[in-house]
Amino acid sequence: MASIFTRIIAGEIPGKFVYKDDLVSAFWDIDPKRKVHILIVPNKEIATVSDVTAEDEQTLGRLFTAARKIAEDLGIAESGYRLIINCKKDGGQEVNHIHMHLLGGEPVGPFAPRFKNIEG
Ligand code: 5GP
Repeated sequence: MASIFTRIIAGEIPGKFVYKDDLVSAFWDIDPKRKVHILIVPNKEIATVSDVTAEDEQTLGRLFTAARKIAEDLGIAESGYRLIINCKKDGGQEVNHIHMHLLGGEPVGPFAPRFKNIEG
């Protein structure tokens, strides 16, 4: 079955797009975690980072050039932003279609703080 992101890219489900080209698409996260929260997604459905192959290198590189352009377009290139790709259960991946989160518009906060119940 097609992923929710494939269905958004295909126009079957609404998405608030900010960018689209032959390899990747980008739209607002439905539940933004910061003032700016964009998902940049390969048009090709690749489930997780564990599934990428050498054939995907151009597509995955495009995630970064798209991120740079979107950050410029949204006016956060100077203030900065964070790019995140989660992988599988421990990485916190919920949608099985690789996506890069672009977070910014305000300070994003500490990187991967430890949970209180984990011994440091
Ligand atoms: P993950 O946890 O897989 O790295 O991130 C999945 C993200 O997809 C979450 O931030 C979630 O809010 C977002 N999301 C889930 N369903 C939809 C949807 O139908 N539309 C949009 N735009 N975002 C979604």
